[in-house]
Amino acid sequence: MDVFSEIRPLKAFLSQEKKELNSIGFVPTMGALHKGHLSLIEASRSENRLTVCSIFVNPAQFNNPADLARYPRTLEKDKLLLEKAKCNVLFCPDTAQMYSSQSRVIFDFGELDKTMEGYYRPGHFSGVALVVSKLLNIVTPDRAYFGQKDYQQFKIIEKLVDDLKFDVSLRCMPIIREPDGLAMSSRNARLTQVQRNKAPVFYQSLEEAKSLLRHGDSMKNVRALIAGKMERMGDVKLEYLELADTTNLTPTKNVSDNTVLLIAGYVGEIRLIDNLLMKDED
Ligand code: AMP
Repeated sequence: MDVFSEIRPLKAFLSQEKKELNSIGFVPTMGALHKGHLSLIEASRSENRLTVCSIFVNPAQFNNPADLARYPRTLEKDKLLLEKAKCNVLFCPDTAQMYSSQSRVIFDFGELDKTMEGYYRPGHFSGVALVVSKLLNIVTPDRAYFGQKDYQQFKIIEKLVDDLKFDVSLRCMPIIREPDGLAMSSRNARLTQVQRNKAPVFYQSLEEAKSLLRHGDSMKNVRALIAGKMERMGDVKLEYLELADTTNLTPTKNVSDNTVLLIAGYVGEIRLIDNLLMKDED
C-alpha cells in the first residue's frame, strides 16, 4: 500500500495511475477502522482497479470540541487493516494540509441539514460537505463509497455532488452490525462493558418501532414508548427518533416502503446513531 500525507505527491501519483486505470474508487473515513469501513474498501475493490482510502478526523464537522479531542485515533492499526484488505493507497493528511488557509466556505442544504443530525449538531453537515469537496477534488475518484449508517450524510453528499457537478458516482453500502445488532462505529470503542451491553437498545428500538408502526401505532406513541424504555435503563437517552421519506428525508407520519426510521441518542457520554428502512429486505 502506498501511503501519502501530502496532497501534491498523492495527486502526482494518482494522475499517473489514472492514465492507465481510469477506475479509481475512494473511501473517505475518519479512521479507527472496523468491519463497516472494510466493507466499503471491499466494495471499492470489486468495482475499481485502484482503491484509495483517506483517514482524516475533520475538525470542521465537530460541533463539540470534547468529542473531537476524544475521537479514537489508531493510525498504525488502521494501516495494518488496510494492508490486509488490499487497499492500494492511503491518504492520511494532517489538519494543516487540509486547512492550509482558514476556510470560510459555508454550505446550506435547506431543510436537509436542519433536521435530525443537522439540528442537533449545528454546522456538522457544512463541515462534512467542505471536507468531502476537498477530498473529491484531491482524489478525483470515479466512484466514492459511503455507508448507509450515516443516512442523512449520504443524502447531503448526493446533493453536494449534484449541485457542484462533481464527476463521481456515489455508492451507499449497507450497515454492518455486531452480532447483537449494534451498528459498528468507531465510537463503540469508547463504551465501557456495561455501556456496551446497553448500546444494542438503539437497533432494538428501531426494530420495535418498525413493527409497531406497521401495526398502526402512531409515531408519537412509539417515540414516547421508546424514550421511556431508554430512560428506565439508566445512562441511556433518546435524542430523536424520526420517520422520514427516503428521497428527501422530510419527516413524515405516513408509513410506507419509501420511509426510513432514524435514531440518535446517548449511552453515557457517547453519542450513537442508527437507522432502518421500513421496506423489508428481500
Ligand atoms: P467515519 O469514519 O465514521 O466517518 O465513516 C466513514 C464511512 O464509513 C462513512 O461513509 C460511514 O457511513 C461508513 N460506515 C461507518 N460505520 C459503518 C457501518 N457500521 N457499516 C457500513 N458503513 C459504515
